[in-house]
Amino acid sequence: MADMIKRVEAAKEAVVLANRVCRHVQKRLDNVRAIFKDDKSPVTVADFASQAVVAHVLSQRLGRVALVAEEDADAIRTGSPELHSAVLDAVHVSWPGASIDDVIAAISLGGAEPVRDSIHGFWTLDPIDGTKGFLRGEQYAVSLAWIEHGSPIIGVLGCPNLSKDFGHALDEPDTHGTIYIAEAGQGLYEYTGDDVRGAGMKITRLEPAEGEPVRLCESVESGHTSHDDSERIIERLGEADDPVRLDSQAKYAVVGRGQADLYLRLPKPGGKYVERIWDHAAGSIVAREAGCAVTDVFGNALDFSHGRGLEKNQGIVVAPPRLHGKVMAAIADLGRFRPSPS
Ligand code: AMP
Ligand code: MG
Repeated sequence: MADMIKRVEAAKEAVVLANRVCRHVQKRLDNVRAIFKDDKSPVTVADFASQAVVAHVLSQRLGRVALVAEEDADAIRTGSPELHSAVLDAVHVSWPGASIDDVIAAISLGGAEPVRDSIHGFWTLDPIDGTKGFLRGEQYAVSLAWIEHGSPIIGVLGCPNLSKDFGHALDEPDTHGTIYIAEAGQGLYEYTGDDVRGAGMKITRLEPAEGEPVRLCESVESGHTSHDDSERIIERLGEADDPVRLDSQAKYAVVGRGQADLYLRLPKPGGKYVERIWDHAAGSIVAREAGCAVTDVFGNALDFSHGRGLEKNQGIVVAPPRLHGKVMAAIADLGRFRPSPS
């Protein structure tokens, strides 16, 4: 119990500080692009800086940590002096005085292997989830979760551009942003801006009213989910609003807090993509603790016990339980998905 409280506190601090790093780079998107003559360079810089800060905070607060993170230290070790100085500029927002060697050492803490290093559980991190959204100045997330026995137990999801206010357009960045904190069995709490002291606002998801149009949310990127199949599923549910499209695990928060009713992530026909654990660990516990059901397209729970990929799952379906049941029936009716041979 005492360990769990320490983990939650460390994870909150890590995500708050990583959010600041990401915002710093967001304000300089054009500058960074100009230095590197590369459209994607800001996300490279922010990815490394965010991962370094999270790993640093966790290890300072908790000692040895098993961290399975998306970025690889080799990629920064072999980076140019310009990359190193841009990463340091961002890291220093939250970790003053860090040297490039400190940063490389911190990033390499993220190289744990989930199966080998997970006797007591492990952390998983996506330092910037939704890179396309980050580059467009829209939604992205810093996603950190603690996993035990194949299931997320703590999730902290930083959404620096997501407004607390539902009236605020989702593709318009917010100046404060939101942070979601979920602990297994403890519920979901929302914080505005970077102040995660105090209790936060408890979020409980209710079923949508009968007969109201279903509000779907899904990826912007048509390569990440089958927009055609989600449209067919939604048609089977009755009346529907136009889908809301946004990047990153912010989708889990948007359904958890009731701004949309359903998040679908559907394997593309013939697709062999295996979802990465860091793309779903924090988000899934955020939605679950709000009261949503979170499964794959066959209704199986997401299984985080198979390494860096959700090898045993296909696709993602998130909705309040009653609606989730109807969606399962609609998916079965569509008859498009087949369990992989195991
Ligand atoms: P989203 O912002 O929800 O569209 O998802 C972003 C995440 O999609 C990235 O972090 C990638 O890891 C992941 N991704 C990359 N390729 C695919 C794919 N073919 N299908 C599903 N997800 C993918
Ligand atoms: Mg990601």
